[in-house]
Amino acid sequence: MTDRLTPEQRHRVMSRIHGKATKPELKVRQWLWQHGYRYRLNVKSVPGKPDIVMRRYRTAIFVNGCFWHGHHVETQNFASLPAITNSSCCKIPQTNREFWVNKIKRNQERDQKNYQVLHDNGWLVIVVWECQLVPKCIEETMLRVELMLNEHFLALHQPKVVPYGFQETPAAMAAEKPPHY
Ligand SMILES: [Zn+2]
Repeated sequence: MTDRLTPEQRHRVMSRIHGKATKPELKVRQWLWQHGYRYRLNVKSVPGKPDIVMRRYRTAIFVNGCFWHGHHVETQNFASLPAITNSSCCKIPQTNREFWVNKIKRNQERDQKNYQVLHDNGWLVIVVWECQLVPKCIEETMLRVELMLNEHFLALHQPKVVPYGFQETPAAMAAEKPPHY
């Protein structure tokens, strides 16, 4: 079968498919940008090369394709937004089913490792699934993302100053015997 594209054109098409700026990722970026959030893309120094990195929020966002990353293939127990979608987004073909399941599981294992490293370093990891970005879901999805972002931001910036009148250290208080009346 001949390719109607030149090798260079083919390469460009394929790298657009596999690399940056897939459509679901664009939707997330666009929403964030329009709501005043700023971010960086595909930061190589961050484990797993997240699609969107928000350093101010110490947050990494992965926009995952449902099939390749196995949405609903097995229980997602980490970093996923609560399910607000149907479970048919990643139907595995019946032919060569075992091959596909194994492949997807390997992808998932790699994903989970990356998420864990980020998590252990104090990052919030948000996984947004492709199917959560269809028109009827995107607003709810992104509001949840926004809530997670802001909760994490507040947790990061907890005031360190002890309010006046609460200066005793808990250790000193615990060392004293409670008075008897
Ligand atoms: Zn999905």
